[in-house]
Amino acid sequence: MRDIVADPRERKPIDDFHHDIRDEARRAYLQIGPYRPTGHKFPKTKKDGKGQSRGFVGSWFDQFEWLKYSVAKDAAHCFYCYLFKPQQAGFHSNDTFTKVGFRNWKNAKNFFKEHAQSIDGFHYNARKRALDFKNQRQSVEHVWTITSAAEEEAYKARLSIMLGIARFLFLQALAFRGHDESKTSRNKGNFMEILEWHRKKDAKAALVTGEKAPGNNQMSSPMVQKDLARACAEETSELIKSEIGDCCFAVLIDEARDASIKEQMVVVVRFVNDKESVIERFLGIEHISDTTSTSLKEALNTMLRRYERSTQLLRCVACVDLRDSFANFEVQKLVELAKIYKDDFYDYDCIKLAGDLRIFIDEVRNDDNFDTCIDLGNLAEKMV
Ligand SMILES: [Zn+2]
Repeated sequence: MRDIVADPRERKPIDDFHHDIRDEARRAYLQIGPYRPTGHKFPKTKKDGKGQSRGFVGSWFDQFEWLKYSVAKDAAHCFYCYLFKPQQAGFHSNDTFTKVGFRNWKNAKNFFKEHAQSIDGFHYNARKRALDFKNQRQSVEHVWTITSAAEEEAYKARLSIMLGIARFLFLQALAFRGHDESKTSRNKGNFMEILEWHRKKDAKAALVTGEKAPGNNQMSSPMVQKDLARACAEETSELIKSEIGDCCFAVLIDEARDASIKEQMVVVVRFVNDKESVIERFLGIEHISDTTSTSLKEALNTMLRRYERSTQLLRCVACVDLRDSFANFEVQKLVELAKIYKDDFYDYDCIKLAGDLRIFIDEVRNDDNFDTCIDLGNLAEKMV
C-alpha cells in the first residue's frame, strides 16, 4: 500500500495494482478523497506562450465534486474515472482525466461539464461504481459474501439434488408436477415424490433439503422447477448448436394441438455430423396462433432468432481467416462483433475501430512476418 500517493501525477494506474489488492487500493483512495491542495497558488501560464495567462481556479473544486488537482503536473484529473473507469486495451480510451491530466484552462468549466455528462457514459459509470463501492454493506453482493461457507455448501448440495431429479424426469420424459401438491396429498407429483424418496434414502440429502433448508430457499417450488427445466433446455440447445457447427441443416416442422386445444409446432433439425451420420435433434416446441404456413414460418423465425446471436458470432469470427492474405477480412463484420460486446466497446469505439482496422489490415498484409502464420493462435503470438 506504499503505492498509494495523494498527488495524481505520481500514482500508478489502478489497474497496475495486483488484482488481489486493487479493491484495497481503491478503498484507500476513496478514504483519502480527491486530492485538493490547500493554500496552493495555482500557477498561471500562457498557452503556447501566447494570449492571456490562465490557470486552475480553486472554486472549481466546489462545483465539481470529482475534480482533483496535481501540483507536480499543474493538471486536473477525475477522481472517479481514475479509480473505476474500465481499461480499454488497445483502442480508444479517453485518458485526459485519468492519466494525462487536463490543462486547457480557457474553457475548462465547459470541458468539465462535458466530461461529467459525457455521452459515452464513462464518467457516469465510474461515479456509480464508486458510490456502490462505498455502499458495499447494503449491496446484494456483500450480503451474499457474508453468508457462511457452510450455508453455501448446503446450497450447492441442494441445487445438485434438485438438478439430479430434473435430469431424471427429463430422460424418462415424465411430468414434474402433480394434481395435488399440498402437504396432506398422498401423491404430490413426480418431482416432490422423488425428492421425498431421496431424503429417506440419503441422510446427507435430508440434512440440506425440506424442513432442514431455510424456508425461503427450499428450491423445490414450481418456479424453481421451471427455472431448472429452462436451464437444462438452454444447455441442450447449446450442445446441439455446437454439434451442427457451421454445417448446413434441414428443419422439420410438425404442427399439433395439445390437450388445452392450443396449436403448437415441433421443430426438429436434421444434419450430417462430423462422423458422416445423419442426425436428427429435437429443438423445441413453439406455440402458434394458427397453422397457416405464414405463422409457422414466423414462429420458426422467432425460434431461430434466439440462436442468431451465436450464428452471427461465428460469421463475424470467420472473417479473421488468415488464408490468402486475409482474403475474407471484412471490417464491418469485426465492428459487428465489437457491437455484440457492448460492455467492452462503446459506440465511439466502434466508429474509431473501423478506421483502425483498415490501417491494421494494410500493415499486416504488407508485413512479411505474418506470411508464416497459419492460424489465429499463431497470429496472436506474433502480435504479442
Ligand atoms: Zn470522470
